[in-house]
Amino acid sequence: MGRLSVRQLLVISYKLLSTTNPIFFTTQNPETQNTKNTMNELFSIKGKVIVVTGAMGVLANSLSHYFAEQGARVVFLDLPRIEDKLKATVEKARLKSPECIYCTGSVLERASLEGARDVILQKFGRIDALINGAGGNMAGAIVQPTDSFFNLDYAQWRAVIDLNLGGTLLPILVLAKVFEQQKHGVIMNFSSMSAQSALTRVFGYSNSKAGVDNLTKWLAVEFAQKIGEGVRVNAIAPGFFIGEQNRALLTNPDGSYTQRGQTVIKKTPVGRFGIPEDIFGTSHFLISDAAKFVTGTIIPIDGGFSAFTGV
Ligand code: NAD
Repeated sequence: MGRLSVRQLLVISYKLLSTTNPIFFTTQNPETQNTKNTMNELFSIKGKVIVVTGAMGVLANSLSHYFAEQGARVVFLDLPRIEDKLKATVEKARLKSPECIYCTGSVLERASLEGARDVILQKFGRIDALINGAGGNMAGAIVQPTDSFFNLDYAQWRAVIDLNLGGTLLPILVLAKVFEQQKHGVIMNFSSMSAQSALTRVFGYSNSKAGVDNLTKWLAVEFAQKIGEGVRVNAIAPGFFIGEQNRALLTNPDGSYTQRGQTVIKKTPVGRFGIPEDIFGTSHFLISDAAKFVTGTIIPIDGGFSAFTGV
C-alpha cells in the first residue's frame, strides 16, 4: 500500500471520529440537537402578532423592524398625522415579514384604539404582545435649572402624565382585553432611568414613568392571579439613548458632549450612550416563551447606569 496524503489522512480521521464518537461533532449529538431545538422554540417569536404603539419613535421603530426580521407579524400604530411615514415604514417591514400592517390612532383616544383592535382581530384573530412605546415629554413639565419649581405648568404636567401613564393604560384596557379570553398575551412597557431616582429637569416625565413602573408590577400581579400565568406584564427601562428630544441636551452641534452629557457618561460604567439595537435582545426575551416565568419586572438597559453610585 502506497503512502497516504495529508488530505486522505484528514478525511479518514474525520470519518472515524464522526461515526465512533458523535460527541466530538456537536451538530450530530442528539442531546445537543434537542437542546438547540428547545432553545429555538423557547425564543421563537415567528408568527407572533405584536402591536407596537408609538411605532414611529426612535426606539420603538427600530424594535418593530427587528421583530419583523424575526418573522413576527407587527402592527405599527402611531398618530394619524404621520400616516405617510407609517405607510413607508410598513412597506419596508413587509420585505422581512409580509403580514406586517399599520394602524393610525391615538393611545389617548379609546375610540381610535377600538378601531385598531377591530382591524387587528379581523386580520389576525388574536394579539400575542402589546408593546407600549408611545410616550414623550413636554416643555412645560420640565423644571429648568434657573426656574423656580413653583412656576411649573400644571396643565402640561397633567398632559405628560396622561401621555406616558394614561397612554400605557388605555391600550392595555382596549387591546390587551383580548388576553382575558385568549389566556395568553404579553405586555411590555417603557420605563426610564428617571422613574426610580431624581433626574433633574424632567419632573413630569419622571413622575409618569414612576407610575408606569407601579402599573407594570400591579398588573403583573392582577393578571397572573385572575387570568393565569399566560398573561405577563414587564417593562424595560432604557438608559440614555440619544434621540431628537434629548440630542441638544446631551450633545453639542460639533458632536462633543454637553456638561449634562459628560455627567451621564461618567455615571455609565460602559462609557457610552445606548443605541436602539441595545434594547432588541431583552425585548425579544421578554415577549418570548423563554420568559414565561418572568412577570412584574422592570429591566434596566442602561450600560450599568442604575447600578453605579457614580463613585
Ligand atoms: P420617541 O419619543 O422617539 O417617539 C414617541 C412616538 O410616540 C412618536 O412616534 C409619536 O408620534 C408617538 N406618539 C406620541 N403621542 C402619541 C399618541 N397619543 N398616540 C400614539 N402615538 C403617539 O420615543 P422612543 O425613543 O421610541 O421611546 C419609546 C419609549 O421609551 C417612550 O415611552 C420613551 O419615553 C421611552 N424612553 C425613551 C428613551 C430614549 O432615550 N429614547 C429613554 C428612556 C425611555
